[in-house]
Amino acid sequence: MMSPKPVEIICTACGREALLVREPVYDGLRKTGEVLKCSACGHVYADEGEIHFKTGEVPKVFDESDREHRPEVFEAGETERLCRHCAHYVVNPFMQWCGVHHREVEATDTCDDFEPRPEDGDGDQLPGGKAPLLS
Ligand SMILES: [Zn+2]
Repeated sequence: MMSPKPVEIICTACGREALLVREPVYDGLRKTGEVLKCSACGHVYADEGEIHFKTGEVPKVFDESDREHRPEVFEAGETERLCRHCAHYVVNPFMQWCGVHHREVEATDTCDDFEPRPEDGDGDQLPGGKAPLLS
């Protein structure tokens, strides 16, 4: 009997979106029933037939699609392997360079040979004397 799920209703007395409050009624120590109340105005409903429930379907559907749009694990992994966070990533005024594959890269590229850069500070420091040679 005790399953205090919040139930969303639209109150017929105050017209607001509210929660249905189920208050147990006791006769001495014995529970004899429940009072159904609006959480907003405290209106007491004689029975459930009087109550305008908000539909229970909408929240579930919303949850599912919400999850699909946010593949968080995947995105986090991709972000960590970006060239701009890689130890071999070199920026100079002319290009962004991969020190492993000796080719131009984009900051947003990802790479199988990714190695996390030890100090990922400002990230825009110029490589003194380490300019890549094209050959
Ligand atoms: Zn109400």
